[in-house]
Amino acid sequence: MRIVMKYGGTSVSNAERFLNTANIAIDTYNKKNEVIVIVSAMSGVTDMLLGAADISLKGGDIAPILNELRLKHFDACKYIKNEELLKLTKEGIDTLLVDLEKSLIGVHYLGELSLRSKDRIVSFGERLSSLILSKTIEAQGVASDKIDAFSLIVTDSNFGEASVLFNESYKKISETLLPLLKKGTIPVVTGFIAKSKDGDITTLGRGGSDYTASIVGAGIATSEIWIMTDVDGIMTTNPKICSNAYRIPEMSYLEAMELAYFGAKVLHPKTIEPAISKNIPVRVKNSMIDSPGTLILKDTHTNHKVVKAISIIENTAIVYVSGAGMIGVPGVAAKVFKALGDYNINVYMISQGSSEANISFAISENDIEKSEKALKEAFPTKELVKDISHIKGVNIISVVGKGMKGAVGTAAKLFTAIAKENVNILMISQGSSEVSISFVVSKEDGYKSIKAIHKAYLE
Ligand code: ADP
Ligand code: ASP
Ligand code: MG
Repeated sequence: MRIVMKYGGTSVSNAERFLNTANIAIDTYNKKNEVIVIVSAMSGVTDMLLGAADISLKGGDIAPILNELRLKHFDACKYIKNEELLKLTKEGIDTLLVDLEKSLIGVHYLGELSLRSKDRIVSFGERLSSLILSKTIEAQGVASDKIDAFSLIVTDSNFGEASVLFNESYKKISETLLPLLKKGTIPVVTGFIAKSKDGDITTLGRGGSDYTASIVGAGIATSEIWIMTDVDGIMTTNPKICSNAYRIPEMSYLEAMELAYFGAKVLHPKTIEPAISKNIPVRVKNSMIDSPGTLILKDTHTNHKVVKAISIIENTAIVYVSGAGMIGVPGVAAKVFKALGDYNINVYMISQGSSEANISFAISENDIEKSEKALKEAFPTKELVKDISHIKGVNIISVVGKGMKGAVGTAAKLFTAIAKENVNILMISQGSSEVSISFVVSKEDGYKSIKAIHKAYLE
């Protein structure tokens, strides 16, 4: 088999974890598989780098944070038990840190932190971890190459969350990786980062290493894509919120996509797309203990419950657009969503009152200002749209499961379960595929709703 395995930050959070990760890759390789590893930055490092960029912008001292990064990565090399390789790794770390320092000083002198500079600065996290992991594998006696995904994935210049140009990327991925697999090495590729057509470093959005894994998997037609993480697989809900959550053995692509889109951090929302295009199974597995994980396929075989999983997106807002002038005027909704699209605002849910006098939609709290600006530009007079208001600090809860399709009474049971907890629902929407129902509640009611639905459907 040819397998892409991706390790998140917690799977490379210290020297022991690097060794454990290297050993899983080697064991899989020794069982006559071709293995490509995708790796995230060490846990916490992406946030440290963003913090360093801010400090630099404000004219603060970046020496302590650079020192902390150096120590953290040097410590993580403990199991490279080969003097020559250890020396090379430490030199490599220092070279990267000098380059990082230059980027940070640039931010300081320009007094400006663009999304472009941010992408360049955060890229060092994955460049450092991939170096250590590749050398840890080599020190265990198996050949490995560290590959910067710059040479594999081509994107547009939408810094912070760039869009992938698939044809060009797939060509580069196969041209670069196939000869290495043929040579018998384990390539270790940086997750999360890519390069624009103009040659600038870009990123695929927070948590984007999962997406890298499926782009690479689709690019060289792997047999499976493994997402190795700190939980046993995709669970019925986030186990950090509900202690009764348990592993789901199988899910369909559509169910996994809906769940990821509606906030289940265990998978980056775009991960499933490339896998679907080449019909590659995705497995989500625990990198710490051997567990069968969750297998994500085009179609699932096992009999399943009506509701399979529950997710939450926190820190969202509802924006209300209203005005009697909107009634019967064609194209108002189109104009609203075009304006938001032009500002790159992601809309999670939409609802329109039957009177047509109001439209409401849910977005990230961080996008409120941008959305008000976009709407004011699109509707400069009060003729059509009279009022634009919002409430923030709300949560979107989504209930996912393909068994809900055509199952009578699902919504009734769902809302009865949360009504018993005195939860007030601010907005409701059902996906057209009937694989999910989402609703918005206040911050205080978020976890309470999840627990009530879990109890009603999944326990
Ligand atoms: P990694 O560093 O491996 O990418 P993440 O922190 O991005 O890991 O994702 C794993 C986390 O996702 C889990 O620790 C868990 O708290 C969270 N999570 C949210 N929803 C779910 C779910 N339905 N199933 C499993 N984990 C979930
Ligand atoms: N290191 C990146 C992040 O923290 C990407 C990832 O972990 O997938 O968002
Ligand atoms: Mg992740």
